[in-house]
Amino acid sequence: MDIQQKKQIAILGSTGSIGTQALDVIAANNSLFEVYALTANNNVDLLIEQACKFNPEMVAIGNEKHYRTLKDALSDLPIKVFAGADSIAQVAEMQPIDIVLTAMVGYSGLKPTINAIKAGKKVALANKETLVVAGELICNLAAKYKASIIPVDSEHSAIFQCLAGEGNNPIEKLILTASGGPFRTKSLDELKTVTSTQALKHPNWDMGAKVTIDSASMMNKGFEIIEAKWLFGVSPDQIQVVVHPQSIIHSMVQFADGAIKAQLGVPDMKLPIQYAFTYPERLKTDFPRFDFDVCSQFTFEKPDLGRFRNLAFAYDAMNKGGNMPCILNAANEIVVSEFLKDKIGFLQMSDIIEVIMAKADYIAKPTYDDYVKTDALVRLLTKEIIE
Ligand code: MN
Repeated sequence: MDIQQKKQIAILGSTGSIGTQALDVIAANNSLFEVYALTANNNVDLLIEQACKFNPEMVAIGNEKHYRTLKDALSDLPIKVFAGADSIAQVAEMQPIDIVLTAMVGYSGLKPTINAIKAGKKVALANKETLVVAGELICNLAAKYKASIIPVDSEHSAIFQCLAGEGNNPIEKLILTASGGPFRTKSLDELKTVTSTQALKHPNWDMGAKVTIDSASMMNKGFEIIEAKWLFGVSPDQIQVVVHPQSIIHSMVQFADGAIKAQLGVPDMKLPIQYAFTYPERLKTDFPRFDFDVCSQFTFEKPDLGRFRNLAFAYDAMNKGGNMPCILNAANEIVVSEFLKDKIGFLQMSDIIEVIMAKADYIAKPTYDDYVKTDALVRLLTKEIIE
């Protein structure tokens, strides 16, 4: 890596769990990386603190009502300040940026990711919903504009690391590991009464609220199989999910000769974030090391699609294609936010998603505008059903 020229990094969603850990990685390697832009949706206080510490060229806040606060707080610094969702999408295409880390939550990641790809940026993709909603469109654009997409999601980073050096060796299947989440051993009856507070306590990973609920409901793994299909160009029947409660094996690749390669490590998102920044090189870290003397047993289970129906819905949506994964995602974003407000129960999330997938208009070959319309309509439809 060229030490003379620091890599210019834009972090979209800098105040979230991935964003703050990415800033830790940058701070620890400040001779290699520089923050060019930071964006957040609502957390203006933390964005101000980050801007003062990292002194980026520009910051943008999604929620326009925080513009004044942000502008005033940074008035003594030479930092450009923007507000609104459009400004976040525009930040992603700024000329000096080398790497765009997409670490925002949900559908909001789509437009900025498209802009970053069209500007030929290297995209460190942490926003999995982008590929769930519009994987085909994103992959076509990435090919057309010669933009590389490096996965940050730990499972996909693991697969990406297993594939390094394999050239065109054929993949037989991808084996995505899942922790099983906090409710792995709960019965269907017990799942009826679990609360959002319980769902927010993930056994192995410390993450934002949305992805933690998705992990408890296994929708996160559902999204990840769709993400894997697009990132690695495999067919749905080549993707297997294995529950591995220790979360040490981050995922595996089985090749045509039957050999399986796995990537292991202590659960810590800083490693996949840093690898996405430095790929194909590896940098020395002081992250905690896995100790075989302490954890002496790895276990594996088949996922239970009877208790965790979301995973089955995701396979259905992936097989159906078109705008169905977009429908799945929009319905899920609404049910998760309602579950977090204790308006609906845990199992109701899946019940409602099932209804919406049957009810929403299916489009076999969606355009970008179709995705925008599908997302908006499904959100309304889902809210109507919950009312
Ligand atoms: Mn993951």
